[in-house]
Amino acid sequence: GALLAAIELHKRFGATPALDGASLRVDAGEIVALMGPSGSGKSTLLHCLAGIVGPDAGEVHYGTRRLSAMSEAGRSALRRGEFGFVFQFGQLVPELTCAENVALPLRLGGVGRRAARERAHAQLARLGVDDVAGKRPGEVSGGQGQRVAVARALVSEPRVIFADEPTGALDSLNGEEVMRLLTEAARTAAAAVVLVTHDARVAAYSDREVVVRDGRTRSLAG
Ligand code: ADP
Ligand code: ADP
Repeated sequence: GALLAAIELHKRFGATPALDGASLRVDAGEIVALMGPSGSGKSTLLHCLAGIVGPDAGEVHYGTRRLSAMSEAGRSALRRGEFGFVFQFGQLVPELTCAENVALPLRLGGVGRRAARERAHAQLARLGVDDVAGKRPGEVSGGQGQRVAVARALVSEPRVIFADEPTGALDSLNGEEVMRLLTEAARTAAAAVVLVTHDARVAAYSDREVVVRDGRTRSLAG
């Protein structure tokens, strides 16, 4: 069965419908791109799948678990233990060095300082940015910062990586490089990726594209 499944999700923000019967299945290790126009519900679907937003109706299953049947603490533990997140920008803590940023999810998960630091450095090296380990996010380029963000998403060895416009703030060359690194690292770790993008060149790194329109999902052949 699917690792992650959204079934007939409905969600409104006040009078604004964001999801209107959206469904999605993601298999273990599968890379799925959510595409579609701005405001079509892509981010809301991603937030529901990750247990950040609760749908008004419909269900999200992670393996055999129903997210709506879990406590907020349970969903939070799931996000910390099994999910990784990459966003467009603003996700790195500016006061911490890049290595400390990558080590942060491990420290929050109870990993000791020395082990967390070693794993953070190894992950930065895998993404080719170990040279910025001691710098703060404000001192590195956009492309380097996004690679650090990818390292942070991967360091706790998540089963699913949620990426919302991960290349949205980058030029196309850096964007493609970040996508290449993200998808390569995900495949190596057998992690699934749910990717939100409106860029066909970014979506081309996925196994499968799903179009979201007016809060509904539509799969594309091929
Ligand atoms: P997309 O990611 O495709 O751009 P979103 O899921 O962000 O679409 O938004 C879908 C609709 O829901 C939009 O009309 C958006 O303005 C609205 N929306 C999303 N999040 C919120 C929120 N937290 N509060 C109010 N409206 C929201
Ligand atoms: P995107 O275009 O990638 O969906 P947005 O800038 O629309 O990103 O949304 C950023 C954040 O603001 C999200 O957490 C989303 O849920 C929230 N948001 C989106 N639209 C609205 C809205 N109309 N009112 C309040 N919050 C919103």
